[in-house]
Amino acid sequence: MSNLRFEVVAEAFRKRPLEVPAPKERPSEYFAKYVFNRPKMYRYLSVEVYNKLIDVIDNGCRLDRSIADAVAAGMKRWAEEHGVTHYTHWFQPLTEGTAEKHDAFVEHDGKGGMIEEFSGKLLVQQEPDASSFPNGGIRNTFEARGYSAWDPTSPVFIIDDTLCIPTIFISYTGEALDYKAPLLKSLHAVGEAATAVCRYFDRKVKKVQTNLGWEQEYFLVDESLYSARPDLMLTGRTLMGHDSAKNQQMDDHYFGTIPERVQAFMKDLETQALELGIPCKTRHNEVAPGQFELAPIYEECNLAVDHNMLLMSLMKKVAHKHGFRVLLHEKPFDGINGSGKHNNWSLVTDTGVLLHAAGKTPEDNLRFVVFIVETLMGVYRHNGLLKASIMSATNAHRLGANEAPPAIISSFLGRQLTDLLDHIEKADKDELFNVVGKKGMKLDIPEIPELMIDNTDRNRTSPFAFTGNRFEFRAVGSEANCASALIVLNTAVAEALTDFKQRVDALIAGGEDQTSAIIDVIREDIRRCRLIRFDGNGYSDEWKAEAARRGLDCEASCPLCFDRYLDPETIRMFEKMNVMSRSELEARNEVKWETYTKKIQIEARVMGDLSMNHIIPVATHYQSRLAKNVEGMFNVFGREEGKALTARNVKIIREIAERTQLIETGIEELVDARKVANRIQNEREKAVAYHDTVIPKMDRVRYQIDKLELIVADELWTLPKYRELLFIR
Ligand code: ADP
Ligand code: MG
Repeated sequence: MSNLRFEVVAEAFRKRPLEVPAPKERPSEYFAKYVFNRPKMYRYLSVEVYNKLIDVIDNGCRLDRSIADAVAAGMKRWAEEHGVTHYTHWFQPLTEGTAEKHDAFVEHDGKGGMIEEFSGKLLVQQEPDASSFPNGGIRNTFEARGYSAWDPTSPVFIIDDTLCIPTIFISYTGEALDYKAPLLKSLHAVGEAATAVCRYFDRKVKKVQTNLGWEQEYFLVDESLYSARPDLMLTGRTLMGHDSAKNQQMDDHYFGTIPERVQAFMKDLETQALELGIPCKTRHNEVAPGQFELAPIYEECNLAVDHNMLLMSLMKKVAHKHGFRVLLHEKPFDGINGSGKHNNWSLVTDTGVLLHAAGKTPEDNLRFVVFIVETLMGVYRHNGLLKASIMSATNAHRLGANEAPPAIISSFLGRQLTDLLDHIEKADKDELFNVVGKKGMKLDIPEIPELMIDNTDRNRTSPFAFTGNRFEFRAVGSEANCASALIVLNTAVAEALTDFKQRVDALIAGGEDQTSAIIDVIREDIRRCRLIRFDGNGYSDEWKAEAARRGLDCEASCPLCFDRYLDPETIRMFEKMNVMSRSELEARNEVKWETYTKKIQIEARVMGDLSMNHIIPVATHYQSRLAKNVEGMFNVFGREEGKALTARNVKIIREIAERTQLIETGIEELVDARKVANRIQNEREKAVAYHDTVIPKMDRVRYQIDKLELIVADELWTLPKYRELLFIR
């Protein structure tokens, strides 16, 4: 019996690193080669059109239709110089990944021939067939059509022969059917709210921008091995597989030497990413074998999100070229670390940073404290919602497991910042002010030592940690669109800042001095959001108990976490901040529950197929072989001696019989549980049923399969094992 597994393992072993010719230029020279960025806009557009477009990008001015044609013509001219023949509106539907529909530049010329054409109208708006994208019933209730609309703040780029135009995707009645539309609104909301608060401290501030630096973790597996694992191919993770004797226990992979084949892949990926304007900076091995990370320099949030989406699809393409498959699933392998995507989030003004402690004056320090505390207020008030924003069928495997973020949102601030907040909260008010001569009162907030900026005492167990000049939201999943988390974070902070300003203004209107009013309100808020602060071990059981006492959201069931999107305070927040309406939230939740169900459904089916077609036949085959051996031994040695000599084999025969039986009944129960769940009409109830009744049955089947893997002869086992999948030569 030939075993495909041995063939693919041998094939993987033979592979050598792909020769990737090094780019002749330095990165600074080929950076953004395929992006229609400002220097190119300047070159391909008239000065007048350029200035108007920059005004649209920088100041959110309305796009004047009259310039759209000129912009499109310039883009087309540039694109054609790179051999581009097609264009596409590139958008981020509520499924994973991105969507695109390519159209050629050609049009009838009216004389029986064709001309290349690309008008402003085509640049600005398109009507992709929206019916096949998830929409949570919006199209049933509202309008049947959707359209994509150009987002001029994210530059167009070229992939192969196609000009890609970043767009939002909305229904004809204006409901968002994507991630980008609400993200842009949330960025607007937090920008406005933060600018208004900044003006207390500096009248000159015109604008606040949100920055995002993501850190993408991923696994690589050899493509030949991957092709022999139907579960990886169809679900993105291994549904079965016994631990490798060696995995990450030696901690020898983290920051270790990168295998040559992987190194070649990384170089290739980085070059191509840089050409697309993604400012790649860091690459290294991660904790688990076969796991790696890529992080760019942070950028404006909307652009950074687009770049992450682009990078994820680029990774898949480049990996394929190098004979790898990239696994973006949050937990491809049980028993070893999963993958996340830390989101480093900060606010900057057009005059300086906001979350940086090294202020020169006490006023700077107060401003810093205000932004820290109001961020915490947002996180505190909506901690359950923030968790919902990073929850998914796939990320659920990672949360709450003892590796990355716990299933409870809390924030780590570090000793110094904690002391500072305690001081401001508890000090007598006159301690915070000094009397300075005739000028009256002067604020006296202690200097925040520079040291804090290089705060190395990072608490890796905290899902939302302050790291010197930014917050790091660590619970985001590796496969997720960052926008999901950032829509909630931005909006929650926008709400907190707006609320803060209203209260300060009310005190000022009542005759209180501005600084004193700010101090009063901020002291109140430090007290109110105290419960979200936690510097201890986020993985410990004590913390779970403590968090429950504090009233933080401790729900761990993914479909139930989604309920937070429909809480009255959530709807109020999104509507007040003008980010999403109740109907949009309701529709999006339908999509979330439906997606959850489908994922588990596919996994359950694949598990059933593999059990019946791989596991049970292989185990039975081995069992027959053993039975034959027992029979032969009896013939040779006679009954008495034969019995003694075959005791081990008989034990295994029995074990295989028992375990395959348990697998078979397990799969039957799994199918029954699915049937019951499938009859449920309500999407939420159905998802809950899948979570509560289907998943536990899958876990039980897996347990038996993994035990069988240990006793069945290696040469018969058809699925590549963990020890083969995880170690790249
Ligand atoms: P670590 O793994 O220690 O968290 P990395 O260097 O891998 O650090 O990633 C840090 C990420 O944070 C990078 O993407 C970096 O650009 C980003 N970052 C640094 N400063 C800021 C900031 N002020 N705002 C947002 N992101 C930032
Ligand atoms: Mg990090």
